[in-house]
Amino acid sequence: MQFGTAPEGQPVELFTLTSGKGLEARIMTWGAAVVSLRVPDADGRCDDVVLGYDTLEGYLRHSAYFGATAGRYANRIGNARFRLNGREHELSANDGAHSLHGGQRGFDKRVWTAVHADARSIELQYRSEDGEEGYPGNLTVTVRYSVSPGNELRIEYTAGTDKETVLNLTNHSYFNLAGAGNGTVLDEEIEIRASRFTPVDAGSIPTGELRSVEGTPLDFRKPVRIGARIHSSDEQLQIGNGYDHNWVLDKPGGALALAARVYDPLTGRIMEVLTTEPGVQFYTGNFLDPAAKGRGGTTYPRRGALCLETQHFPDSPNRSEFPSTTLQPGAIFRSTTIYRFSVEQR
Ligand code: BGC
Repeated sequence: MQFGTAPEGQPVELFTLTSGKGLEARIMTWGAAVVSLRVPDADGRCDDVVLGYDTLEGYLRHSAYFGATAGRYANRIGNARFRLNGREHELSANDGAHSLHGGQRGFDKRVWTAVHADARSIELQYRSEDGEEGYPGNLTVTVRYSVSPGNELRIEYTAGTDKETVLNLTNHSYFNLAGAGNGTVLDEEIEIRASRFTPVDAGSIPTGELRSVEGTPLDFRKPVRIGARIHSSDEQLQIGNGYDHNWVLDKPGGALALAARVYDPLTGRIMEVLTTEPGVQFYTGNFLDPAAKGRGGTTYPRRGALCLETQHFPDSPNRSEFPSTTLQPGAIFRSTTIYRFSVEQR
């Protein structure tokens, strides 16, 4: 189904995937984005658990990366530059001096091509040209979304390049398990399987340290109410606005394992996030704009949703001690993330 028309005139398509067990996902070709994700609650009632807009215009007007595929480099690259093979690459800066989520026009602001679609899956492809936003190499990237009877939304990324480059992909869905527009996420509980995080400076660029979460408001190794410690005034932790940090997952590198679990006591909904990635950015929608009317005219308050952006660590191209984000020509990039939905048995 056509969802709208992109600024350059290309049609933007919308696809619906159904699990057969109550989960329904809508995916569009603009930004390879999740537009809606309806899942049952403990009483079998289905609600949309991701923020979104009714029309493509909403997405074009307000870019908070709702549901989008962020790339070529999801999260930040400090001072919008990095060196590769002795060559300096200057990127487009869009977050002060830094480059965030691929720059001014990242993968979230491109029309992807649907190369395959059926009732349970959709495969979207984008060819990012050599030099686009400052990144080297022609890169072909494919995102496959599929749903399963286990009420999982599985996201599989593959990519290849013709020149050495850097790559970090994530999905930027904003979740509220009580239903999009139904208050804040402060009463939802979260568990993050991580003993360490990457501390950042005032511009959200990692200092290079991997610090223990022990004794900090970033310790979610046991489930904690999101609002419980969000007002921490420890300036060193940069929680001023809320959570917006990268956690270092406690799992063997590359293995598909549980990264985080969110539980909403109101509806009994549970979301588990599994990934092959080494990190996850937990962001509490600190910069959501309540003036932007969301789906059905609802408003999405500040902290009205959370993101769990599975990824490599921010600024890895400038941090040789972090797991590498370099992709060599001839190599196939692979990454998988699963958002799995269930309910608490009542
Ligand atoms: C970043 C936030 C940023 C947001 C933009 C998140 O991934 O960590 O700092 O404001 O994306 O929507």
